Amino acid sequence: MAKNKIYLDNAATTYVAGEVMTAMMPYFTTEFGNNSSMHSFGRAAEKAVARARVQIARAINAEPNEIYFTSGATEANNWILNGIMEKARSKRLLVSSIEHPSVLEVAKSLAARGYKVEYIKVDENGIISVSDMIAKLSRPAALVSIMAANNEVGTIQFLNTVANIAKERGVLFHTDATQALGSVPIDVKAMGIDALSLSGHKIYGPKGIGALFIRNGVDLGKYMNGGHQERGQRGGTVNVPAVVGFGEAAALTMRDGPANFKRISKLRDYLISEIESKIEGAYLNGHRTQRLPNNANFSFPGVEGESVLMMLDFAGVAVSTGSACSSGSLERSHVLRAMGVPDAHNQGSIRFSLGRSTTKEDIDLTITELVKIVKKLRGVSAIKG
Ligand code: PMP
Repeated sequence: MAKNKIYLDNAATTYVAGEVMTAMMPYFTTEFGNNSSMHSFGRAAEKAVARARVQIARAINAEPNEIYFTSGATEANNWILNGIMEKARSKRLLVSSIEHPSVLEVAKSLAARGYKVEYIKVDENGIISVSDMIAKLSRPAALVSIMAANNEVGTIQFLNTVANIAKERGVLFHTDATQALGSVPIDVKAMGIDALSLSGHKIYGPKGIGALFIRNGVDLGKYMNGGHQERGQRGGTVNVPAVVGFGEAAALTMRDGPANFKRISKLRDYLISEIESKIEGAYLNGHRTQRLPNNANFSFPGVEGESVLMMLDFAGVAVSTGSACSSGSLERSHVLRAMGVPDAHNQGSIRFSLGRSTTKEDIDLTITELVKIVKKLRGVSAIKG
């Protein structure tokens, strides 16, 4: 990555790791076969897809035949929510109030089609309210969907606890683990997870590839009509190079994740303490410790997030307001709102998400620029902090 700019938006997407590029390259050129073909070209491609399936399965302790490749986590979330609800006897779906739009918008469309959708509350740190979840599960439901880690504020859920609560009540449990893979240990068997969504481009893999884990025995019915790909569930020629890259990225994340995250979380803690000591009123959103190692999300009362983002960008530092999907809309974050963050704090929220290439110099430069920008904006801001 070009080092004249500082990239602190790794929760939006990451660069593709060199090892991942190397693994993918042959499948664009010499090994270009269709993995459904029976000849040697096809068999070579299928061997690579099978290997990637094992790599993804290993990362979450699933069986390889429980992994279905998709175009990303958005598709995986659409597939599981629609698939389960359309088949289930109960018409009730429970989702957390801080899910990614690829869950919340599906839930909304299901509600418009007559399904009963309810939103599980979170506390001020973004942690699921267990009492609210238990209360909502006192009546039958088909599915509970709770993300493993939040993309905006980085809060990590107590996945084992919430999955167990659903399991004890015989309700299927899905988790969107897009942001969590590698930084949060996930064992679908031990945790009793029935379905899980993943994405390649958050873990130094390519964009446009993801996966849905569906536990064997959970019947979803056919998702995409077409050929017999993905065990007849999702028709369409498999994106072999992307699948190979995703598998390699998952394997690398599992191998190097702990060491990387130790280094990154130290830098993240340094960023947090510097911001808190240098910017008056800076408020850390999300849980202080139960959070992704690369995430720091701050509100700066008295300033608008978009202005900070644009001025930081001008200074060569890329950050995000809330999530990339909702930024640009100038809408307040639904995540911060669900956490009960006051409106004054919900106007100036900036997400810093560090990555493998982030250095201490990057953080120092970011802090220097940020302090100047907030000062400047507070001088001219119309918002009363
Ligand atoms: N879920 C979460 C928690 C995410 O952060 C994202 C990406 N912003 C998605 C789903 C969507 O993933 P994809 O880009 O692979 O569709």
